[in-house]
Amino acid sequence: MATTLRDPVIPITEIEHSAFCRTDESLASKPLVEELKANIRWQRLPKEYMGMKPEVLYPRIRAAKEKLGKRAVILGHHYQREDIIQFADFKGDSFMLSQNAARQKDADFIVFCGVHFMAETADILSGPRQQVVLPNINAGCSMADMAPTEDALDAWNELSQVAGSGLIPVTYMNSTAAIKAMCGRNGGIVCTSSNAAAVFRWAFERGEKVLFLPDQHLGRNTGVKVGVPLDDMVVWNPFKPLGGLSRSQIQAAKVILWQGHCAVHTRFTVAQIEEARRRFPNVKVVVHPECTREVVAAADLDGSTEFIVRTVAQAPPGSVIAIGTEINLVSRLAHENPDKTVFCLDPVICPCSTMYRIHPAYLAWVLDNLVEGRVLNRVTVDEETARYARIALERMLGVV
Ligand code: SF4
Repeated sequence: MATTLRDPVIPITEIEHSAFCRTDESLASKPLVEELKANIRWQRLPKEYMGMKPEVLYPRIRAAKEKLGKRAVILGHHYQREDIIQFADFKGDSFMLSQNAARQKDADFIVFCGVHFMAETADILSGPRQQVVLPNINAGCSMADMAPTEDALDAWNELSQVAGSGLIPVTYMNSTAAIKAMCGRNGGIVCTSSNAAAVFRWAFERGEKVLFLPDQHLGRNTGVKVGVPLDDMVVWNPFKPLGGLSRSQIQAAKVILWQGHCAVHTRFTVAQIEEARRRFPNVKVVVHPECTREVVAAADLDGSTEFIVRTVAQAPPGSVIAIGTEINLVSRLAHENPDKTVFCLDPVICPCSTMYRIHPAYLAWVLDNLVEGRVLNRVTVDEETARYARIALERMLGVV
């Protein structure tokens, strides 16, 4: 059984994560040339867009959007900057947006203001005539980058030899289309953070163990939710032979967790929850299940982005809610619910650096080009990969 040894590599997206963390500034966009002073490298843009201020970019985006009319639909993920969300025809989480995209039969172009795996999913679910555009082609996801397709395929081959036929591959939406296809080909399935528990139950009805990629925390939190003891879950380290596990550990495990995480959600700590409770004894703490096990256990509630949005919307006036998820969403929820006290657990303003790569200058650039008949930054998934990935996605739809 051959395993290639490599030095651990921190995905570039994660190194960049702290570039935009600060305590003293607002979330408003600056001209791109100023944002790039944070020592980061994003997709190159024509010079004219680099120095444009928001007051120049906004009317430009509006004008292009108007010219394109129903031919272009703009999707905005909840974690996008407010400067982008204001132009979105639909906002939501990754899967909800892809489903919305598929429903827009009149739209030739789906401009996905999110990250790369979301644009891939939109391409898989949309019609053959529709083209998906990612305004900044460098907008990846540091968690998805922790499971490169080749590593995941190697791991699957090794694990299925050791674990046998009872192993079911389950991947989180935040993964490459090729990993989703691997799941589709091998009796596996995709999940979102909303349906992960139902998907785990589905998997355990069909096999004895689950390989879960790429977020160890969502996998562990979901395992606990469906009754898998913590000792029955092991972590696969892609940089070690056989994931750093012995054959007997793999054979005894119920859940094998890929060693990946979200740089945004692992910033939240139990100490932050304790501090929120000290300041507001009546606070409700709601966190995303990509947070660590300790944080989820210490919170009052945990759930997907859509669950967090709903929880805040349905809370009675006067409620105090501390949230453990991406800051752009938290600050939007605070703004939209002035009768409630809504705040982020982390006192440092630390947006998702990859979502942040969709600066309004990129949106203006791709829309201007669409008006001129040029499709830039198209994201496509080859037919064979799309076919199997669709199988894994459709299995998920059958579960919920
Ligand atoms: S918040 Fe985390 S999981 Fe979501 S896109 Fe950003 S890095 Fe990826």
